[in-house]
Amino acid sequence: MIYSYEYIVRGGTAVITADLHIHSAASEDSETPLSVILDTAVSRGLQTVAVTDHVELVNYRGGAYDTAAVESRRMMAEATVPKGLRLLRGIELGEPCANEALAASILEEGQYDFVLASQHRLSEEVEDYYFIDYSGWSDQAVIAEMERYFTEVLKVVRWNGFDSLAHLTYPFRYLPPKWREGDYRPWQSLIDDILGTLAENGKALEINTSGIRKGLGQTSPDEPLVQRFVLLGGSMITVGSDAHRPNEIGADLDAAESMLRRAGIGYVTAFAHRQPFRLSLD
Ligand SMILES: [Zn+2]
Ligand SMILES: [Zn+2]
Repeated sequence: MIYSYEYIVRGGTAVITADLHIHSAASEDSETPLSVILDTAVSRGLQTVAVTDHVELVNYRGGAYDTAAVESRRMMAEATVPKGLRLLRGIELGEPCANEALAASILEEGQYDFVLASQHRLSEEVEDYYFIDYSGWSDQAVIAEMERYFTEVLKVVRWNGFDSLAHLTYPFRYLPPKWREGDYRPWQSLIDDILGTLAENGKALEINTSGIRKGLGQTSPDEPLVQRFVLLGGSMITVGSDAHRPNEIGADLDAAESMLRRAGIGYVTAFAHRQPFRLSLD
């Protein structure tokens, strides 16, 4: 896999220079200091980055997300941002509907530039999809499991307190191989509800490029779902590598760029102070 940052540095035609999904050491699953993120971003030709550390509403205190949120904000407030780079103060807010009042107060306190919403698990009683072993699951069981997932995502989208919906097909990375090939027919009406509601509410859909590197072999969501979003009236798309290590920063943004162009969208969307702005692809 050739990472897109090489493409940017080589002066190719890839022009997405905004990576809006990066984890720092304030996330429990990353060890990358913020200073390394910023320096790496500059060396790869990026001009805009959003650091979006995990804050999950399921197991909020048990998972120490309360202190992670404070630490992430402190690092961003104290960062020395290199000239020519814009740091957007972001957050990846997991499972916001598990406690909407708490979600609202975290966002109020954080005064973020950019809020990604994600769904990594359904509740306290079940683990993150990352930890579930789906080998041997029947089609029927998988269909029911993903119906519960998309139903919860629809709830998040209706809650509407975020800017961009992260990695819509996240659990599919971990499903038996046949379900990683982009057949979403069992859930098409739920997915249409999700994408249509996002579009109607003027929210963004994220193209998360980590799926290319982690299990899916394609972005999350994949191109047909991105096109479906556009067909249903969506026009705001954010792009993120979901980097947890320095070598992933800016990775595979060119794949997202090709999708945007083929969907007839000549810009990528970013957010500052929770307001969208466009970065042209021309
Ligand atoms: Zn995530
Ligand atoms: Zn993430």
